[in-house]
Amino acid sequence: MMATDSLDARVDEILKSLGRRTTAPRRQVARLLASKRGAFSAESINAELPEVGRATVYRTIRLLAEAGVLCKALLPDGSPRYSIDHSWHHHHLICSSCETVEEFRSSELERLLGELSDEIPGQVLGHQVDFYLTCPNCLQ
Ligand SMILES: [Zn+2]
Ligand SMILES: [Zn+2]
Ligand SMILES: [Zn+2]
Repeated sequence: MMATDSLDARVDEILKSLGRRTTAPRRQVARLLASKRGAFSAESINAELPEVGRATVYRTIRLLAEAGVLCKALLPDGSPRYSIDHSWHHHHLICSSCETVEEFRSSELERLLGELSDEIPGQVLGHQVDFYLTCPNCLQ
């Protein structure tokens, strides 16, 4: 009951960010996304929602990524993985073997990048740094 309430609240919040009429299929997509923990592909969401049209799934995910609700990371082959963006600044650790995406935060990295900004001509407005690696699970 509590969990459902907070899930509903998150779904509402996600849909509100679209600023468009809420349709039942969109709500289904938003509900599934709100329940996700890690990163996912649009295709996996599509596979989990056979009753929702593929175009609707992809369009909703794209709109949510543009709205900043979803954060997008690219696998080495360029295919996107999405995750709920909690709006704290982070980087990604992307495993090229199992394709999992973890968030990575480091004050040391931010400090280094901040110092580097002084050497970059013009005014740096932000940065995007993702790491491609073999994750500990895959190393075992
Ligand atoms: Zn992210
Ligand atoms: Zn891995
Ligand atoms: Zn950073």
